[in-house]
Amino acid sequence: MATPAATRHLFLFCILLLLMAGGPVQATGAEPGALQNPEFAQRHPDNRLPPNAIDAQALPSIVVRADAPDNEPLPYYRLAPDTYFFYGNIAQVDEHNRGFNGNAGFIVTPDGVVVIDSLGTPRLARRMIATIRAVTDQPVRYLILTHTHPDHAYGAVTFRELGGVTIIGHPGTLDYLGSETLAESADYRRDLIGDDMAGFEGVPPDVLVDRPRLGTPRRIELGGKHFDVYNVGTHHSHGDLVVHQVDADIVWISDLAFNQRTTFMGDGDSGQIIAAQDWLLETFADARLMVPGHGSAQTAPFPMVTETRAYVQRLRDEMAEAIENGLTLSEAVNRSHFPEWEGSRLYEENHRRNASFVYLEMEMALF
Ligand SMILES: [Zn+2]
Repeated sequence: MATPAATRHLFLFCILLLLMAGGPVQATGAEPGALQNPEFAQRHPDNRLPPNAIDAQALPSIVVRADAPDNEPLPYYRLAPDTYFFYGNIAQVDEHNRGFNGNAGFIVTPDGVVVIDSLGTPRLARRMIATIRAVTDQPVRYLILTHTHPDHAYGAVTFRELGGVTIIGHPGTLDYLGSETLAESADYRRDLIGDDMAGFEGVPPDVLVDRPRLGTPRRIELGGKHFDVYNVGTHHSHGDLVVHQVDADIVWISDLAFNQRTTFMGDGDSGQIIAAQDWLLETFADARLMVPGHGSAQTAPFPMVTETRAYVQRLRDEMAEAIENGLTLSEAVNRSHFPEWEGSRLYEENHRRNASFVYLEMEMALF
């Protein structure tokens, strides 16, 4: 039997070995929010991946190579033991991100996988499926589309082709599918990243969440886990859904608030945005995490929601005042500057468009 001194020496020797090996490497991968495949960035040195996707300050910068195989997993993070997250680029679609400019995620249950949003192209969706396959053999059973915008929904056709997947969406999706907006946005993406868009078509959901706005959710149960899907109106698109993962207490808030960037308001209704943000903060004040459609996941008290709300309210007030003072649309837009947002991603691209959208809304409301 070893003496206490020998045991102590053996223990110290083991610690020394661990230190020489760079410490216990498993620790980061298991911590909530940790990046699960850091070797992705080593394989593609142009990429910068924040090591953690909860309350991150750093921005992800992921170059999606045009020649990358469809079976190569995308970088992915683990927010909770069963919950995985794709932390997309915070940018407009371009040849470098190839449509990976929004977030998505999936939850593994003992009876299958629930996917939230499909990323921006059929090819990215194939890589999402490769990522799911790297984590579990469980089949994909549900795809919940939070809204119809390209960066969230244009990979949906790939999940339809997979078979056995029930697609859940907002009733407004049906209006969007026949719209000019869909045709124009699909053409825009085909011009930019044609190969990735091959096989694209709009997908009508199998289940429409038509419950009253901000009212009772539709509940999905799979493998003993519960998902409450709320209809939060048409605040940002033709129809928006919020998903509450009841058991993990994680809320997928879609584009109801943006993190690490300026919001986009070219579609929807700014009055409904404010109402839905107030509902969100009231209903889920103590949630464990909120996951936006763009930017890092966040813990309470969810400053991304209060900050996006303040931006929208200020724009509404400013544009209403401009109209009362007789300013034209272009005068009002030219005068609108939000200095504290100026350094944020997509301010230059979106602020004038947001101002113009809200001016027209306020004009309609006043006359
Ligand atoms: Zn979006």
